[in-house]
Amino acid sequence: MDIKFIRMPVKENLINLKKTFINSSCLLIAVSKTKPVSILKEAYEAGIRDFGENKVQELVEKQFQMPKDIRWHMIGHLQRNKVKYIAPFVYMIHAVDSLRLLQEIDKQAEKNGRIISCLLQIHIAMEDTKFGFNEEELEFLLSSEEIHQLKHIEISGLMGMATFTENEKQIRSEFSMLKALFEKLRKRDLPDNFNLKELSMGMSGDYLIAQEEGSTMVRIGTAIFGERN
Ligand SMILES: *Cc1c(COP(=O)(O)O)cnc(C)c1O
Repeated sequence: MDIKFIRMPVKENLINLKKTFINSSCLLIAVSKTKPVSILKEAYEAGIRDFGENKVQELVEKQFQMPKDIRWHMIGHLQRNKVKYIAPFVYMIHAVDSLRLLQEIDKQAEKNGRIISCLLQIHIAMEDTKFGFNEEELEFLLSSEEIHQLKHIEISGLMGMATFTENEKQIRSEFSMLKALFEKLRKRDLPDNFNLKELSMGMSGDYLIAQEEGSTMVRIGTAIFGERN
């Protein structure tokens, strides 16, 4: 998997990328972090309506400058004190990793008269640098009293990032673990604010494996916009 992505027009990259999809109904989120608005507009012109960013300030600035029918996905680690800046417009928050963050999102969503879709980030990688719930923490969340009180969020699914490795077997087993957890949870009696339907897994280097393992949304940057500095 040492494909190097050549900087081609965004539109061509998108067409080529879509051709490789194993599951055509898997949502493509264009990860535009660090890229200028002019490049995002190329993707918009080519039909992209779902954009992913990982920094609050950049997300807010781009949302302001881009068309209003875009669905903005916050895909990065989110600090509680910054939720208020994105709560008015964000479509989905992918990397929720604590009850306290969920409570803050709920509070800010209520202020804005919204229900915000959230994905729980699950720790599937071997690296301990990646955020997310482990199974024990997830059970704790599910059994808490507090989770039931959150009326302005919807837990729409799970998100995970595989280990950064060339080892495809490793990546596949991590995605497969996440899919199994997703299906196991879906069979359970969950709080009312759960509606598990999305599995956000897969990036430029591993989206095909992710799709084979049941991903419903892939977050792809480099393969669309070229390498980041
Ligand atoms: C940057 C990023 C991506 C996209 O990575 P690429 O390898 O450029 O496709 C996906 N998910 C998250 C959480 C990211 O931060």
